[in-house]
Amino acid sequence: MKTLGQLKPGESGVVLCSGSEDKRVKRRLVDMGITPGTEITVRKVAPMGDPMEINLRGYELSLRQADAQKIQLMEPDEAAGYLEKMAQRQAEKEAEDRHEQSGDLPQHEKAARLTERVLERQKKGGGDSWADGFDKDHPIKLALVGNPNCGKTTLFNAMTGAREYVGNWPGVTVEKKEGRIHALGHEMTLVDLPGIYSLSPYSMEEVVARNFVINEKPDAVINIVDGTNLERNLYLTVQLMELERPMIIALNMMDEVEKRGDRIDCKRLSLELGIPVVPISARTGQGVKELVAFSQQVIEVAHEQVHEGFHIEPDDLYDHYTHQVHHRLGDVIGNRAAAAGLPEHWAQIKLLEGDTLVREALALPDQEQQAVDSIIAEYAASSQLGDNETLVADSRYRYISRVTSLALRRKLGQGEASFSDRIDRILTNKYLALPIFLLIMLVIFTLTFGTLGAWLSDGVDILINGRLADALRGLMERSGAMDWLTGLICDGIVPGVGGVLTFLPQIAILFFFLSFLEDSGYMSRTAFIMDKPLRRFGLSGKSFIPMLMGFGCSVPASMGARTMENEKDRRMTIMLIPFMSCSAKLPVYGLIAGAFFSKGQGLVVLSLYALGILVGILSGLIFRKTLFKGQTAPFVMELPPYRWPTPRNTLLHVWERVKHFLEKAGTIIFAMSVVLWFLENFDMTFHMVENTAQSILGVIGGFLAPLFTPLGFGTWQAAVALLAGLVAKEAVVSSLSMFFGFSTIAGAEVIRASMAGTFTPLSAYSFLVFVLLYVPCMAAVSTMRRELGSGKWTLRMVVWQILAAYVVSLVVYQGGLLLGLG
Ligand code: GDP
Ligand code: MG
Repeated sequence: MKTLGQLKPGESGVVLCSGSEDKRVKRRLVDMGITPGTEITVRKVAPMGDPMEINLRGYELSLRQADAQKIQLMEPDEAAGYLEKMAQRQAEKEAEDRHEQSGDLPQHEKAARLTERVLERQKKGGGDSWADGFDKDHPIKLALVGNPNCGKTTLFNAMTGAREYVGNWPGVTVEKKEGRIHALGHEMTLVDLPGIYSLSPYSMEEVVARNFVINEKPDAVINIVDGTNLERNLYLTVQLMELERPMIIALNMMDEVEKRGDRIDCKRLSLELGIPVVPISARTGQGVKELVAFSQQVIEVAHEQVHEGFHIEPDDLYDHYTHQVHHRLGDVIGNRAAAAGLPEHWAQIKLLEGDTLVREALALPDQEQQAVDSIIAEYAASSQLGDNETLVADSRYRYISRVTSLALRRKLGQGEASFSDRIDRILTNKYLALPIFLLIMLVIFTLTFGTLGAWLSDGVDILINGRLADALRGLMERSGAMDWLTGLICDGIVPGVGGVLTFLPQIAILFFFLSFLEDSGYMSRTAFIMDKPLRRFGLSGKSFIPMLMGFGCSVPASMGARTMENEKDRRMTIMLIPFMSCSAKLPVYGLIAGAFFSKGQGLVVLSLYALGILVGILSGLIFRKTLFKGQTAPFVMELPPYRWPTPRNTLLHVWERVKHFLEKAGTIIFAMSVVLWFLENFDMTFHMVENTAQSILGVIGGFLAPLFTPLGFGTWQAAVALLAGLVAKEAVVSSLSMFFGFSTIAGAEVIRASMAGTFTPLSAYSFLVFVLLYVPCMAAVSTMRRELGSGKWTLRMVVWQILAAYVVSLVVYQGGLLLGLG
């Protein structure tokens, strides 16, 4: 049996089925359009030999060899047999449609009439006449749904400006965005649902989206469809139709469709689908006003429809046999779907697909469940594929092919090279890809954390921690403020919050680049290039950039992991980022390595970086076997065409991240600064102390010190320095210099002499290892807590870091003693 994995670049084949045992992977593949009978052309293989890039249904997809090996291709005679059978099912359906026409209208005609009604109304310029019984003050809620990369963010910004509220959906880390529009004398809320390909039960984003539409019942769903990738995008559309909310299609990227020389007949598309289609270009803003007006018409007509008892089911989607089976299921479950608050038609199809969430929600009595199961089994046995999810998906794609063949004329044939392909020939070229990639990363890294970023950060630092703190202190002392208050503000809050603000320029710059990479389409290429090496350690190609940014600062790095749509990979990446030694740890290395290892200083620092990476890799391997066991996520990634990002979108993106960082990290950091300052300046009886050794922090340090004895630095000074390092790693340096009474600009000799009683070179190295691996600063921890979405995961991460730091330092110190290095 031939598989997709055996095809060479340039070769084509016809899919029989995906033989993957993993349901998730299989479903994802069919959702992306790899259904029986689909023609696939292999474009190229990534520079390191895996994954591969394929072309199907007019778009590019990247796929791992392991998955491609499991996709079986049809032998020519099989292909003919299968297609014949499906054609027969289709013919039966059409015969039935003709039959029905004698009596009631077929569903799609009904739908088409409704659409015509909307179109008419729109033409007449009917604006502010809200239908009877529709409360004008009722706040309208619109939901924006679409595939990743279809231009959702751009449309959202075009419709709302920056007036948005961003948060997470309760309980999950899927981003939630809401914006307000004021149009046609009406206040509307626009909810941006996560970018998704399907409504399967396997991904959190998809479940969030379908639950939202079912439970929150938005007044209308705006389905944004990428006109340059019509077939794949309509796959989501036909599933949304089944949720039976008033719907409108925003057919985006029309400028690009035109540029390519493709033609889409919007009226035809509207009538076929039974949904009004509004051509727009979110980027230029063309058609956006009409879209809002149309949405209003759609809502109105939907209300009239309810009045008239005119109900349309999206019944036209499936072949005759599937259709019959779904009606038989309907007969068995009766009105239980409605009782469970689910759209009936949808619930039946979901049962047929074996959707466990719907199955649980319906909670059928045993007898009915058995009847349902036997119908489902019968359906599975009706074809050689034996897999209902694939069969249903196939049926949907067949419907879509029929619709697109009527409404779409493509200029380029399958496998012909577009402009994007020509760029890709260079950027993902076998020999050029890696050098170009590394060069781009180098430029981004140096600009973010080196030159520009460091310069701006220093500026903020001087401004806040220098000028502002001094000015404040002077002002407060002159005005006779109490000492403790001056201390709290000038030594606690200002440096605490100010220390965090110094990250701002770096975050802004990094997000500028990330947004650029993402919007231009290059981000997916980096994942394409880097997937193979990273997979060895249980990560995916998309982890590369966040990990690399970890060497600069964990705060923007963990936020950067947002670009990973796979939740598990994202969590794991965030948990590994802190092991990439951040730039704030360099002063600590510099101080201690300089003092204790005059000659081998560079080597010591280098070894620390390498050790961090090594521990990161080991942790990754361990996480894969424990925390993130099983459920391998399919690496099926779309390679969108290259596009030029718009400045407006990029800037909004940067602003959004910066704002979040200020809001969230700012409040927590503020509170923690106050607490830490208090601990450092008061003793157990709440009296202010002069000497930190007597403060609560000092006492805690003294209490913790014996724990560090096996690691070679069991003193209160080291313990307190580590605690202070939780605020910022640089604080380790300032604490040590304070406790041991040396100036950081003094010579290495002086510094070593002042610490000689406490540290030997071996214990100093062990201390550095601990600093390298233990918990990052609180700005990072609070950011990660936000990105991980739960305290539980944050706790696991922190425990793991402490454990790793302790064990590795222990091994280093005790091992060193054994080797006689003490
Ligand atoms: P999302 O992933 O769905 O949020 O998509 P984005 O809004 O980030 O858009 C993805 C890319 O498509 C970006 O590079 C946009 O600039 C681009 N884009 C969005 N709308 C249009 C459009 O109407 N025409 C063109 N040519 N590009 C667009
Ligand atoms: Mg987006």
